[in-house]
Order: sequence, then structure tokens, then C-alpha cells
Amino acid sequence: MRLIRVAIIGGGVTGMTAAYHLQEQSKERGLPLECTLFEATSRIGGKIQTHRDQKFWIELGPDSIFTAKPDGVTLLRELGISDQIIHAVSGQTSLARNHTLFPIPRDLYMGIPARWSAMAMSPLLSPRGKLRALGDLVLPRTSELETLSLGHLLRLRFGHEVVEQIAAPLLAGIHAADIDRMGIADATPAIEHLIRTHRSLLLGAKRSKKRTQRPASQSASSPFISLQGGLSTLTEALFAKTNEFVHYKTNAPVKQLKKNPDGSYTFVYLSDNVPTRFEADAVILATPAHAAAAIVETLGITTDLLPSIRYASTATVILGFAAATFPEQREMTGFLVPRSAGLSITACTVVTTKWPSSLDQKQVVVRCYVGRDGSEEILKQSDEDIVKAVEDDLHAIWKVKRTPAFYRLTRWPISMPQYDVGHANRVARMEQALHDFPGLAMAGAAYRGMGIPDCIKDGKRAATHVLKHVTQIE
Ligand SMILES: Cc1cc2nc3c(=O)[nH]c(=O)nc-3n(C[C@H](O)[C@H](O)[C@H](O)COP(=O)(O)OP(=O)(O)OC[C@H]3O[C@@H](n4cnc5c(N)ncnc54)[C@H](O)[C@@H]3O)c2cc1C
Repeated sequence: MRLIRVAIIGGGVTGMTAAYHLQEQSKERGLPLECTLFEATSRIGGKIQTHRDQKFWIELGPDSIFTAKPDGVTLLRELGISDQIIHAVSGQTSLARNHTLFPIPRDLYMGIPARWSAMAMSPLLSPRGKLRALGDLVLPRTSELETLSLGHLLRLRFGHEVVEQIAAPLLAGIHAADIDRMGIADATPAIEHLIRTHRSLLLGAKRSKKRTQRPASQSASSPFISLQGGLSTLTEALFAKTNEFVHYKTNAPVKQLKKNPDGSYTFVYLSDNVPTRFEADAVILATPAHAAAAIVETLGITTDLLPSIRYASTATVILGFAAATFPEQREMTGFLVPRSAGLSITACTVVTTKWPSSLDQKQVVVRCYVGRDGSEEILKQSDEDIVKAVEDDLHAIWKVKRTPAFYRLTRWPISMPQYDVGHANRVARMEQALHDFPGLAMAGAAYRGMGIPDCIKDGKRAATHVLKHVTQIE
């Protein structure tokens, strides 16, 4: 068999996982494979970015891996770094309303009330809102799930208040999304399953929560993990494991992907700022969808999928305060902000409480998000103005004015893919269109799940797909 050249475009966790699996499988099967990874920026890791100081580390992008999706933990084990796992501390998360923090009701399942008492006792809902939420128990089964948004579904079942005050911050918040545009099956397959199997969502949530609850005797460690040294430890381990097999090219943005008459692919990348041609038998595109759209423009894929995947922009603002000024925040791991609260902050994590081993305890560090789908105007402001808006919000909530000892703002423009209603159908159509381009795979947060474990799974899927193609080449 002749030497097979595989190109991976995009050096985030998806592209790196694809590279790792290509290496492992080609070694195992004795395949003559040459793998090159092209990354547009000067660093590998994509959105995973840990800032390290001598005494602490802080995440500028993602901060945790959700263990209920097993692909993340499996990869950590394969890379031999599972001994470096640290668990998030499960503390109390609150919701901000009228500049006051209220604990999130505990009896929720995937952001859905799983007991009537969860709502009945909550100060977040008015008596009218509580009564309306009971409608779920008597309403007929909801159908037409393919065309309903998650917000629409939950408004039908529980009314407006439960959606605004509880479900939207919890379910849409982590994706910087608008719950009234999120597809049910696309963004939250577990909720789709609930509604397909139960007439009442509340009763379904109650049963599912009971099934998944641990016995009181078992300690409930958080399902969110990180690694000693932060999440960059993962991408560094991927790099260390693969860098003899994979040619990593940084500062090498790719454009103009074309298919050759013999079925191979050619594209142009910048090498020392000089446009350079590269030929490959197979290509894995592991960039965000908007970047993939620009790269395949010359390929003639007749689909509107890539440009139609919308992205939201966001920014993280990390603020460090002297611990002595913070007697009261030690139990709280953070708070979420409903849209109706009228704050600039959309969510806040008390890093010191959630990840105590990442910081020395002489300071209290909080990480705030600003900007989400439909509310991105704040991101047009200067860094100083954004930080000031965040400080003003914290002041209003804490009722105490504290001056941060340091801050760090990281902008994440067009970074959060939005799984709008119909997303899964668009991805299926894209897959269909790719049948005309054997050896080309698209993977990453834009398509089949946006969390790190989803990206890891998708990187592996793309590697397997491409290997199947190249092993058929004479
Ligand atoms: C602020 C923030 C917080 C998040 N928090 C969490 C969290 O706590 N847990 C979680 O599971 N997920 C979280 N996510 C989501 C998760 O981080 C991402 O979905 C995941 O890291 C995406 O990985 P990826 O490899 O698919 O894409 P990326 O990390 O975006 O990597 C794609 C790479 O492609 C490169 N590229 C783009 N165009 C080109 C080109 N033309 N040529 C070559 N290279 C190119 C880019 O420079 C980039 O390095 C968060 C995301 C953000 C933005």
C-alpha cells in the first residue's frame, strides 16, 4: 500500500482527538499513514485555553468536562492522565432576580421541575406562576416536537415564569443560547426523550431523577471535572502523545479546498505567510462551521448548512479580589442570570469555591460571562467599559463595593454554535452532500454536540470515517 496523506484542518480538541485516533489505529493496523494538522493561529488547543501563573491557573475558555458523557473520561484514561482529574465542588448555585440571589430549586432534572414542591417553595415564582406550572399535569401530550423550540415546549407545559426564571438560565445559559430558538432534540435530546415517553414532563422528570439518583450512602461527587493544571493539560497531553506521528503546522490558515479528478484533495495554506499548496488523500475539517464554509466554498458542496449554523458571541471576565473582603461567598459556586434581570452578566462562577485547588486561597476569583444570543451589544464596548459593567452588576448583587486586585477579559467572538430548531436535519443533509466527497469529514462543536466530550467523540468518528476511505485506496 502506498503512503496515504491525511490532513486535519483545525487544532482544537476535535482535530487533535482525530489526529490521536488516526495515529492509534494506523499503528495498530500497520497502515502507512502521514498525518498533518493545520492550525490558523500560533497555538494548539482551540477554545481550551488555561492561563497559568506560578501559583494558580484559570480557564479563559471552557472550565470543565461533563462526565455523564463518557468519551471525555475515556480519552483521559487512554492518554494516561486520569490520575490528574480534579472534581468540581458541588455547591449552591443561585439565580439573580431584582439584584438578589435565590437558590436554584434542588428538585430539578435537566432544568425541568421534578417535584411540585421544587416550584411551590421557590421565591423565584409568583403564586400565579406556580399555579400555571401545574398545568403540565393535566395538559395532553405535546406533539410536533420537530418544529417546536425548547422554550415553546416548556412555555406550553409550565408557563412563562418557569421558563424565564428557571429553565432558560439553566438550559440555554451554558450555550449562550436563546431558549426560544433551541431545537428540542437538537440541543437537549434527554428532554426530547422525556416528552416522547411521558405525557407530563413533571412526572417524567420525577421518575428519571429517581432512577438516576445515587443512594444517600454514596458520596455525590460533581459530574464536572478538570485536570491538575487546567484543561490545557488535556490538549498538551494530546500533543505530547501525537507529535512524533503528526506534523503540526501552526500559523497555517487553510483556504480553497478542491477535489482532484483522482479523488484526492488540494488546498492552500500559509507557510511563513507564503501561500503553499498541499495535497491529501483525505481531509478532516475540524474548524468552526463558519471557517469550514469559507474553506469549502471552492468545493461546490451544494448545501446551505454551514452558513446556516448561527453562532453567538460571548466574553469571560475574570476578577480577583482579596479574600479578606469576602466573608460570605464561600458556599456559593456561582449564579445564573435570567434575561429579565436586566444585568450585563449572564452567569458567574466563584472559581475559588468551585475549583479550590486551582488557586491559592488568599484571593477570591470570580469568572463572569457577558453576551449571549440576542444580547451581544455589550461586546461592542471597550474592555474597560465591559469590566465596569460587570463590576457594577456584582456591586448591585453583593450590596458591597469591592475593587478587584486584577481582571482579565477574554473575548469569544462567534464562538458558541446555536442548535436552532431543525439543526439535526441540517446536519443530516450535510452528511448526504458529503457522499459526493469521499475522504472528506467535518467534525466539531458545530454539528453533533458542543461540549468537550461531544467534540472528542466527533473527532474519533471523523478519524474512523477517513480511515475507512483511505484503506480502500489502492
Ligand atoms: C467561553 C466558552 C466556555 C465553554 N465552556 C465549556 C465547558 O465548560 N465545558 C465544555 O464541555 N465545553 C465548553 N465550551 C465549548 C467547548 O469549549 C468547545 O465546543 C470545544 O472546545 C470546541 O472544540 P473544537 O476543536 O471543535 O473547536 P475549536 O476549539 O474552535 O478549534 C477549532 C480550531 O480551528 C482553527 N481554525 C479556524 N479556521 C481555520 C483555518 N481556516 N485553517 C486552519 N485552522 C483553522 C481555530 O483557530 C481553532 O484552533 C465552551 C466554549 C466557550 C467559547
